[in-house]
Amino acid sequence: MKKKLKPESLMMSYGYRPEWSEGSIKCPIFQTSTFVFKNAEDGKAFFELAYGLREQEEGEELGLIYSRINNPDLEILENRLTLWDEAEDCAVFESGMAAISTTLMEFLQPGDLILMSSPVYGGSDHFIKKILTKFGIRVMEFHVGQEPEELLERMKAAGLADKLALIFLETPANPTNDLVDIEAFKQLADRLSTSEKNVYLAVDNTYMGPLWQHPLKHGADLILYSATKYIGGHSDLIAGACLGSKELIKRVKGLRTFLGNMASPYTGWLLLRSLETLKARMDIQAANADKIADFLNEHPAVEKVYFPGNLTEEDGHQYQIRQRQCLSNGGMISFDIKGAEKDAFAFLNALELIQLAVSLGSTESLAEHPATMTHVDVDPDLRKKLSITEKMVRLSVGVENSDDLIDDIAQALGRIK
Ligand SMILES: *Cc1c(COP(=O)(O)O)cnc(C)c1O
Repeated sequence: MKKKLKPESLMMSYGYRPEWSEGSIKCPIFQTSTFVFKNAEDGKAFFELAYGLREQEEGEELGLIYSRINNPDLEILENRLTLWDEAEDCAVFESGMAAISTTLMEFLQPGDLILMSSPVYGGSDHFIKKILTKFGIRVMEFHVGQEPEELLERMKAAGLADKLALIFLETPANPTNDLVDIEAFKQLADRLSTSEKNVYLAVDNTYMGPLWQHPLKHGADLILYSATKYIGGHSDLIAGACLGSKELIKRVKGLRTFLGNMASPYTGWLLLRSLETLKARMDIQAANADKIADFLNEHPAVEKVYFPGNLTEEDGHQYQIRQRQCLSNGGMISFDIKGAEKDAFAFLNALELIQLAVSLGSTESLAEHPATMTHVDVDPDLRKKLSITEKMVRLSVGVENSDDLIDDIAQALGRIK
């Protein structure tokens, strides 16, 4: 019996055959808008499947039609992405926000309630609170430490428990690395599901990439990614993905066809290249992050480090979630500098190797100031409650030499007056 290969062994070849393209070892960019049908019968059959007019027959594949519906670069990319999370299917998009907005629009209707963890990525926060609400969708949010039981009571009190249609989680939360228990929210979704209506559980898994956390295994129905981050990993593209069962992804792809926000063939091709080194990159990033966190934990100018690797049994539920849900501490570290905004800025301005920029998950290390940059749009009271203060700096750890990174951090901390 053949041993099942690991995803990193399959990223160079899975789903592509050189004989399709003159023996080319790499999948070319299929820079084409449309595809020629062998005959009219094929064209008819492909459209029937694409528009869901009939069920797929055993072994029948959807043929190539038009690059808004399907394209080889995107299909091969989608097939490779499913391997990491062991998902049945995947849909790729031209941005993480396109993946998130399309998925939420597919599974929510006017009158429905969405329950969301907080904080979430600023773009998701804006889309849910400012745009979905324009279409009559109601929003309830919760913070780390608020348990599903308490939220159920809150929904009942508001008369909305039977309106819940989707739970949206982001864990670890950006920038605090707070963890949310996916299994506990799966149980809540199940309790409020009926024979007529499923309550879906969607998890934005961007922070832990496809390597370090597998939400489907903990009961999530849908995984969302900004592929701009770890999956792309080189700060040279914007893309997104949604993964789940064949049935759910068929619905997501249906709406994607009509919103027209699929990834382009070139973006798909760049991501195929990125996936070949995904494991190698993320392994180095996680190892570097562990070393940097150790250094920060001991530094006198640092007040507090927010990093899953710092959790101990004394942290109770947070520690248990870390042990059960995360396969690594990840590559994102936030920390409070002793002092105020000017001290955090002095540190950021003094960095030489680490660059001052938002975004995350790329080969180069980045640093930013959440309170005045990525999270400036969050209500100030809420920001305070979530410990996103002026003292906080967020680091996205890259693949550079760990001693060089630590030396840079050390010299920049030394420049704080
Ligand atoms: C960046 C990011 C997004 C948005 O993705 P884009 O590719 O920028 O559209 C969504 N969620 C998280 C957690 C992110 O970091």
